[in-house]
Amino acid sequence: MPSMNADAAKVLPGRYCNSLTEYSRFVTREVAIGDVPMGGNNPIRIQSMTTTDTMDTIGTVEQSIRMINAGCEYVRITAPSIKEAQNLAEIKKQLRQRGYTTPLVADIHFTPNAAEVAARIVEKVRVNPGNYADKKKFDQIDYTDSEYQGELERIYQKFSPLVKVCKEYGTAMRIGTNHGSLSDRIMSRYGDTPQGMVESAMEFMRMCEMMNYYNLVISMKSSNPQVMVQAYRLLVETMVAEGMNYPLHLGVTEAGDGEDGRIKSAVGIGSLLEDGLGDTVRVSLTEEPEAEAPVAIALVNRYVERNQELRIKNQEKKEASFDSPLATHYSPHNPYEYKKRHTYEANAFIGGHMVPRVVVDLSSANLKDPAVLNDAGYIYSPLLDKYNMGEQSVDFVYLADQLPSFIFPGNLKQLYNYSTWQKLDNKTMCHPVFTLKEYLQADDRSSALNLIRIKPADIDSDDFGHLPLDKSLVFVLETDAVHGMADQRTFFFKMEELGLDVPVIIKRSYSFSPKSEVGSQKSDGNLRTTYDVERTTNLQLYASTDLGALLVDGFGDGIWIDAPEIDAKVITSTAFGILQATRSRISKTEYISCPSCGRTLFDLMITTQMIRSRTSHLKGLKIGIMGCIVNGPGEMADADYGYVGSGTDKVTLYRGKEAVKKNINSANALDELIGIIREDGNWIEPNSEH
Ligand code: SF4
Repeated sequence: MPSMNADAAKVLPGRYCNSLTEYSRFVTREVAIGDVPMGGNNPIRIQSMTTTDTMDTIGTVEQSIRMINAGCEYVRITAPSIKEAQNLAEIKKQLRQRGYTTPLVADIHFTPNAAEVAARIVEKVRVNPGNYADKKKFDQIDYTDSEYQGELERIYQKFSPLVKVCKEYGTAMRIGTNHGSLSDRIMSRYGDTPQGMVESAMEFMRMCEMMNYYNLVISMKSSNPQVMVQAYRLLVETMVAEGMNYPLHLGVTEAGDGEDGRIKSAVGIGSLLEDGLGDTVRVSLTEEPEAEAPVAIALVNRYVERNQELRIKNQEKKEASFDSPLATHYSPHNPYEYKKRHTYEANAFIGGHMVPRVVVDLSSANLKDPAVLNDAGYIYSPLLDKYNMGEQSVDFVYLADQLPSFIFPGNLKQLYNYSTWQKLDNKTMCHPVFTLKEYLQADDRSSALNLIRIKPADIDSDDFGHLPLDKSLVFVLETDAVHGMADQRTFFFKMEELGLDVPVIIKRSYSFSPKSEVGSQKSDGNLRTTYDVERTTNLQLYASTDLGALLVDGFGDGIWIDAPEIDAKVITSTAFGILQATRSRISKTEYISCPSCGRTLFDLMITTQMIRSRTSHLKGLKIGIMGCIVNGPGEMADADYGYVGSGTDKVTLYRGKEAVKKNINSANALDELIGIIREDGNWIEPNSEH
């Protein structure tokens, strides 16, 4: 093998996308995958993975068809050993007989021999460079340069036969790195970091290029959206520095289920799509695989529209690319590490080291009924005439010009439009919201907290230049730009340049046009419409993308989601979900549950629900729920505890990365897990005050 540089490529800071200000897709090289090419100017492709046993041919074929009908353009199937890899031929044959030509992808971990069989059958193979030719021992060994080079040469011997097969059969390959499942070699030099993830893939990519094989797709997944976003950005920068432009497969691993899974996926995937990165999307939910494609489609569709709108706007301009004058890369912010923007603490309410605040608009609610605050997380007890607060109680309610006819809980701050606030008899816990002009002209301001509504372009105005600054001031940053996240991000960059440390509440507004409604049954028996489901999900996905993309970089001291057609309760839980997913404010237990696949040893959905039902009050704990012992322990990354399938009806429990109870009966496993949490002093009785 030719000698390879064992050191990571040197990268220039700040260039990971075409533009930080304009929407511009990073155009990658086109890769042939059956008759559905990826990358280049092809649409962003949708894909998912089966959860059936690969030896269950009919079950896998039928599930694949459901996924294809839901919108999947590629179907991935696990091939844990040679026999499953061989059975891919039967699955493919039956799909083709039924008229489905969707390319198939074999998912490989640890088994080069299965990969070489699968690569002769399916259109693409996925390998994990962290475990393709490595057995993880979790050893922290120091490698000398020559030992490291020796390891690379050993990997090359194991990996190059697969590349040869792929070249011969025209098979594509995804080099899919996962945070938490890096090789000991990479861990010893880079740690479990975005840089380690990138270098893990780059080693394999360089080997492919040395063999003149370029049919590659790359992924950098993590269950932590912050890590995932940083890793993809660093990957692009590193690829470009080495003259590569392979398509990107975007995904957040082990995102979980329901609202949490959708929000976490949108924060990670959406943040990258906003910057024009991504050629295919897989949303990983602990649900039926056909539930994933609609979420991926909703995320991707926003950019089809955005591309068209901006193309019209940019007709006169050259399209942005890494080298075009349109490309705007200037950022005073390091995009490869999380650093909360420095702000002052405004009267102990917001900013500084405080967690981001949540604002909810209740101005259209019935302000005669104290129970209206239930939607904002203040549960009213008529019997006691008092409110109970929880971890998801909002910090501010916006009432515009409406006055409530009941007494608010003492710690809930009310926001009023300036003209209404001025007339209040009792201004305790009530604060004004100004326009920029109103604030400049006001002779009556709050001594505690003054909020000013502002748009990014205002920062360049004369009015902004005349703003008297004091520590009662907080900006509410709004935008009506098509590419709103970048518009708001530019404001943060400019604030940083000007050295302004005013706290900022990021506000985004959404409206959903009416559609025809079709009835469906909710689990509680009430009728809900599919339209409700669709617009609620879309709100969750859009807000998670727009706000999450700023929060993952440390921008924002508060968030305000304005969506008049959506229940305030949904808005409240979405806001707290986004803060949880971006790890900027933890208000609940985090579940890192795998989407399941043909290796899964128990029903992930039922088990996740069961574990959730007993542990969902353990705020801040991260519990991994993984279907198999082969990949589970690595992929649950930074979970505090792990519940991992290790055989039929057998579970192994983890404390961090250490297996503390091996192969216990699944009937007792949850009680045992709670016992371990209790031993560590992390257990709280469900109904105790905390
Ligand atoms: S952790 Fe889950 S999705 Fe990953 S290989 Fe194991 S069972 Fe499959």
